[in-house]
Amino acid sequence: MVGVVEIKGRAFLARSSRLIDGALLVGDRTAALLDADGETRLEFARSDLKFDLPLGSADRRATLPDGTLFETSDRVAVALVQDDDLGGALSNAETFGPRLAWVIVASVAGVFAIWKFALPALVWLAVALTPEALRDTIDATSLRFLDATLSEPTQLSAMRQSEVKDIFQSLTTLLPEEKNRDFSLHFRDMPGLGPNALALPGGAMVITDALVTDFTDNDVIAAVLGHELGHVVEDHGLTQLYRSLGIYVLVALIAGDTGPILEDILLEGGVIMSFSFSRAHETSADQFGLRLSDQAGYDPSALITFFETLPDADQSESGWGSTHPASGARIEAIEEFLRSN
Ligand SMILES: [Zn+2]
Repeated sequence: MVGVVEIKGRAFLARSSRLIDGALLVGDRTAALLDADGETRLEFARSDLKFDLPLGSADRRATLPDGTLFETSDRVAVALVQDDDLGGALSNAETFGPRLAWVIVASVAGVFAIWKFALPALVWLAVALTPEALRDTIDATSLRFLDATLSEPTQLSAMRQSEVKDIFQSLTTLLPEEKNRDFSLHFRDMPGLGPNALALPGGAMVITDALVTDFTDNDVIAAVLGHELGHVVEDHGLTQLYRSLGIYVLVALIAGDTGPILEDILLEGGVIMSFSFSRAHETSADQFGLRLSDQAGYDPSALITFFETLPDADQSESGWGSTHPASGARIEAIEEFLRSN
């Protein structure tokens, strides 16, 4: 076998019932499970990778050494790494001696390097090159998608809406010029999302009626809006969107060939809804929001109140809790940040 075989698929992580998109990278001695962000979740010996026998046209499955279940529809790639096919190639490789081994090691390293460094660099470049107009189009399409699927018109009184708008504005006016987007706040009744707020890449923010009615304390509203503004200003949404596109689409996007690709992204308005930010993004948005709401004169510790109150209020699977998991560690990190700032 030459270099590394990549098998795209899905993994049910061990000790969690979570299903993630990922890929197995199989080299001649070692194999690794990477998640969709290119992070290594597990490394193990190539000899420990055994796929179940093929059953008709069903997906191929392998149980990894830590109990993670990996499945893929890429039967060709699986065939490439099966022992029988491998045996001949490996013994050939051995007759070529150590030099070929180094070539193989180098190709494995090369593929890892692309996963680890090239993809984030391309994502960063694509974010930097995204024109304001494209952000606004993504916002408008996502709002239309929400209105066609999950949202009802708001039932909040005009007075309460204007109070919340004032909070929003008191936060956005503090943002430096270069962080400025086309900020706008949209009220929607979205029973399916519980108390929630959604930040779109162009600066449109959607806030659910439940958030405003469940939390009458303006400090809490400011804390949540500040957190969401952190996601916008730091481009977490676009980053997440581009990460999900893959290298080929990114290269085309950066090269300016956005026609059909753009259409695909926009038709998939739902993609915005499925954003689940990385822990690093959540921590960063927490800290951004704490600083911002503090500067605007609100009590930043209200973010803790929000997280502590949420589990009772948030029964829905698609609610805030599903995209913003609030662990004890997260609350401790917020307390620590408040103490040291
Ligand atoms: Zn968040």
